[in-house]
Amino acid sequence: MNKQDLIKIASDFVENSKDNYVSNEIAISESVAGMKIFEAPILGFAASDDEYFTLFKEPTVIGEHFLRPKEWLPQSKSVISFFLPFSEVVKKGNRCEKVWPSEEWLHGRIEGQAFINKLCIYLKSELINAGYKTLVPTQDERFWSNAALNNNSQHPKATFTSTWSERHAAFVGGLGTFGLSKGLITSKGMSGRIGSIITELYLSPRKREYENIYDYCSRCGACVKKCPANAITIDKGKNHIICSDFLDKTYEKYKPRYGCGKCQTGVPCESSIPRHCNVK
Ligand code: SF4
Ligand code: SF4
Repeated sequence: MNKQDLIKIASDFVENSKDNYVSNEIAISESVAGMKIFEAPILGFAASDDEYFTLFKEPTVIGEHFLRPKEWLPQSKSVISFFLPFSEVVKKGNRCEKVWPSEEWLHGRIEGQAFINKLCIYLKSELINAGYKTLVPTQDERFWSNAALNNNSQHPKATFTSTWSERHAAFVGGLGTFGLSKGLITSKGMSGRIGSIITELYLSPRKREYENIYDYCSRCGACVKKCPANAITIDKGKNHIICSDFLDKTYEKYKPRYGCGKCQTGVPCESSIPRHCNVK
């Protein structure tokens, strides 16, 4: 199995799985029944021993609780990350709604994440069937995350952090850099979701076309203006507490779903790397 095989396996799954479409049974309204959630993925590849993963243990980055790929799976050689861009319907819906998440976005956030989890399991099973030990960090018992809507954590002192970070892994794997709003800006933009798996199959790392963590962000400030909670500033980026409080409000209004994503739609980095970023 090689990188092209994996790209094809992931792309076919996204194109053909019924879980990438909102079924009539769960659709919030008739207008979103049958909606496609994601378009074709882009994949990143990092070496398990890339020095960035050690750097992430620094308290100023993620912290000692972050587990390196070889701590998750000692014999691992590669980390595969994927970014799934939201379909135009999902993005357009959220562009039109100015404050609250659109129905399309709510499905993208919740059923979209469920689909990401299934894609991880599918890729893992394909690699295991090919003879390579493989692990999904976010589905391992050592994974914990203290983020929005997680008030019952066993790690109350560590806030807005986790033992694995999809965005950081994708950065190492060449998929893109962070933006002011703290999302990852990829060649297909920021509006989508990220997943990753760790495997003992060797796959050559994808070249990082950037040097610094914010290279793809033009600092245009559009996400600052779009945020309904005023959680983002040009000087300090995103305030996680303010953002999380707003997400709680969306949960009260739309439970069992929640979401926002106004900083990811209707902005220059929505669907591509913005012009005037640091990388020429
Ligand atoms: S909207 Fe502008 S400032 Fe905000 S993350 Fe995107 S490129 Fe950066
Ligand atoms: S998700 Fe919503 S509340 Fe949070 S930073 Fe983005 S726009 Fe603001």
